[in-house]
Amino acid sequence: MSLSDTEIATIRQELVSLHRLLVEAALVVWTAGNVSSRVGDDQFMIKPSGVPYDRLSAEDMVLCDLEGKPVDDNGLKPSSDVFAHAYVYRHRPDVRGVVHTHSTYATAWAARNEAIPCVLTAMADEFGGEIPVGPFALIGGEDIGKGIVETLAGHRSPAVLMRNHGVFTIGDTPRNAVKAAVMCEDVARTVHLSRQIGEPLPMKQPDIDSLYDRYQNVYGQ
Ligand SMILES: [Zn+2]
Repeated sequence: MSLSDTEIATIRQELVSLHRLLVEAALVVWTAGNVSSRVGDDQFMIKPSGVPYDRLSAEDMVLCDLEGKPVDDNGLKPSSDVFAHAYVYRHRPDVRGVVHTHSTYATAWAARNEAIPCVLTAMADEFGGEIPVGPFALIGGEDIGKGIVETLAGHRSPAVLMRNHGVFTIGDTPRNAVKAAVMCEDVARTVHLSRQIGEPLPMKQPDIDSLYDRYQNVYGQ
């Protein structure tokens, strides 16, 4: 499936809006973090490398093939996380959006190599259990992507904390991947605060299952 120029232009605009949402939700600073969107079946578009959020325009977004190679050269290099995103799109055909942040509270859990336990109904709703931690991997190659795919395979969570690094989220749309990044930081903060004055109570698995099912299948309009 190849998209028309108009459809591609729409995705460029949407990526600008979604990157702005990351800034508004205070999940990113300066040039850190990125959003990508699958384009058709076998391409994706991602933030350029090292361009600060306040200077990001639709034309700057870099269209790549699923190996992470730019296909529509606009003179900008893709994000240094491009190969991680490419790996996820190659191995998860259901994924149409990927987000990466170093959001503060979630990344504090990642620095400790600690999964966020499912101790809130909001976590059961969105993540269906704990938010897992993936392995340490150096930036620039496929190891991060491999760590994301392998870790998420055993979880319902659309978010993974990559050890010593930060958050990666996936979604059936880029907007839903952004939503998961926002929710991940929100619950990371709440569970962290709860820990400061006691031990958060675990939830029963049947309750987690029931909440997840309701939120994923019944909740909303
Ligand atoms: Zn990063």
